[in-house]
Amino acid sequence: EPQQPYCGRFAPSPTGDLHLGSLLAALASCLEARSRGGRWLLRMEDLDPPRVMPGAAQRIVDSLLQHGFVWDGELAVQSERSDLYKAALVQLQQSGRLYPCCCTRREVAQLAHAGVDGPVYPGTCRNGLPPGREARALRVRVDEQLISFADGVQGLQQQVLAEVVGDFVLQRADGLFAYQLAVVVDDALQGVNHVVRGADLLDSTPRQIHLQRLLGLPTPGYVHIPVLVNQAGEKLSKQTLAPALQADGAVSNLWLALDYLGQNPPPALRKSNLADIWQWAHAHWALARVPRQRSIPIKSF
Ligand code: GLU
Repeated sequence: EPQQPYCGRFAPSPTGDLHLGSLLAALASCLEARSRGGRWLLRMEDLDPPRVMPGAAQRIVDSLLQHGFVWDGELAVQSERSDLYKAALVQLQQSGRLYPCCCTRREVAQLAHAGVDGPVYPGTCRNGLPPGREARALRVRVDEQLISFADGVQGLQQQVLAEVVGDFVLQRADGLFAYQLAVVVDDALQGVNHVVRGADLLDSTPRQIHLQRLLGLPTPGYVHIPVLVNQAGEKLSKQTLAPALQADGAVSNLWLALDYLGQNPPPALRKSNLADIWQWAHAHWALARVPRQRSIPIKSF
């Protein structure tokens, strides 16, 4: 097979403004793509209307531009791509991989033991809905196969989905497509062959590889960079009150992100300008220097 040119992406969810934590993922994915002569795409993951914050998508785009990011092609918007997710569901349905599930969150929690990302689905509806119950969600079957991948920062990862996740939801009771489905479809159809993102998604990756295999799609290379956490060990987010990045602090923000990413930017660079810090970053970026941790405590806001 001919080697495909590198294509990476940044895929923020507009559930809040861009903050220092998300800047790390944007910067690492961009610098890794550019240092390998690759393309770098931007995709807005706005598939979950109840969690979308009005105006956040535009503010994220503005903030990326103010920080000097340049992406290739048009911004992709997940809420405009539902037909593609629907087609993937139909494909899985036709190969017998999906089943309707009536279980509420509470019912699952009562029966299940804890997995890597919430309770392991106990398989209640696997062989048909219990009498008198109505379908709510659609789940995909998992199996006992060991799924392995070599993460570019975190090293060898292995997971048996049946043990730590169970059959998982691809279409929710409210009709929304699950992140796991959309991300797999989009990465494949956009030609993304390298994913660099936060380590909070490390445990989701085997689910995504499972879906790629069922759908006959290629598996990208994966790099999971550490996420910034607060004193309580919680990921920086809107919920943990991470402040939005300010345009007038762009150079300093980029400097801090490079510092957290282990790149050792010279102190004087922090008071330079966008052109200089980007030039330095492109010239010195080394994935090998990124800390091999899942999280990094933030020094202060
Ligand atoms: N939209 C996801 C997030 O903001 C990231 C998805 C991904 O990079 O695969 O957490």
